[in-house]
Amino acid sequence: MTRQVAFLSSAELWRRGHGPQHPLKPERLQRTHELLEEVGAFQLSNVHVIAPRLATFEELTLFHTAEYVNIVRALSNGQQDIPASRYGFGPGDNPVFQSMAESEGRKVGSALLAAERLINGDCDIAFSYGGGLHHGAPQRASGFCVFNDAAVVIHWLLKQGLRVAYVDIDVHHGDGVQAAFYDSDKVLTISLHQDGRTLFPGSGFVEDTGTGPGSGYSVNVPLPPYVDDALYLWAFSRVVPPLIARFEPDILVSQLGVDTHYRDPLANLALTTAGQERLFRELDSLGLRWLALGGGGYDIGVVPRSWTLAMGVMASCTWPEELPAGYRRRYGGDWLRDTEGPVLDPRLQSLNRVRVEQVVEAVRREHHL
Ligand SMILES: [Zn+2]
Repeated sequence: MTRQVAFLSSAELWRRGHGPQHPLKPERLQRTHELLEEVGAFQLSNVHVIAPRLATFEELTLFHTAEYVNIVRALSNGQQDIPASRYGFGPGDNPVFQSMAESEGRKVGSALLAAERLINGDCDIAFSYGGGLHHGAPQRASGFCVFNDAAVVIHWLLKQGLRVAYVDIDVHHGDGVQAAFYDSDKVLTISLHQDGRTLFPGSGFVEDTGTGPGSGYSVNVPLPPYVDDALYLWAFSRVVPPLIARFEPDILVSQLGVDTHYRDPLANLALTTAGQERLFRELDSLGLRWLALGGGGYDIGVVPRSWTLAMGVMASCTWPEELPAGYRRRYGGDWLRDTEGPVLDPRLQSLNRVRVEQVVEAVRREHHL
């Protein structure tokens, strides 16, 4: 059966950004939209492009404090007498930028609109690729994330009485989302990521499993640097499907960061687009209503291709192998999928095999699998 897929996108998503030196470039979103358009995704009868809306104050405060939302608005309007660093803002990861409240509030509205469409039965899968800002805290910006769309939308889904499984495949630990539901047994959070001892935000260890009634409902799979497609997928298959089956969620929320790619400049895992595509398939085959969010990914030559492959999985459509002519002319590149991969030291690979086996065994023991 063909699934109906909502794709949340409009030019408003890439009008503003964190500045020319910042790795989270709005062009990532623009180029993904353009590539999807040029491969013909938006002509498919089961793909529906929906323009994101702004999140309201009430919606943002499902997770963020009212004080913080007001601070973001004031900073965004250029107010100067605010101790911005107290709220995580400043030069570097989280600069204040013009119209920040609107730009980042739209990414939350995007996730909420996607969730509404799913709940109403208008679609089976919704891809809010502008979001996945999983580091945001209730009263603090962190790791490029002003508002945490994932945490807000999961709170909204809980209000509708749903049990939510959250699976985060970004290379960084989904710390903000985990913390938001650390004491809840209504949300199962699973994050696979590069080991926090070697990467921001420095958290997400196997023994961090939740607290109180949420004990056992936070799952972390920290992976050593240079883990490749095969090892990552093996770890995923040993942990994610059995935990999801046991939890019996009403809906899957996923964060589809693609900074696991071997060419990503901010991290050290070694996946290719082939591995990422197989991961999207694994998530798809869980057979749940699926709210997919975007996430990290900082090689602009990779991100649009990876997320186009994700849309192919969602819409059950195979795109041409060759990149569309117009896209190639503007941005270079030849092929949709990677034609080469990482060169890895075989000794490190066998060492990593042992390490990943140990991590997976520890996770399975901790969670009684
Ligand atoms: Zn990331």
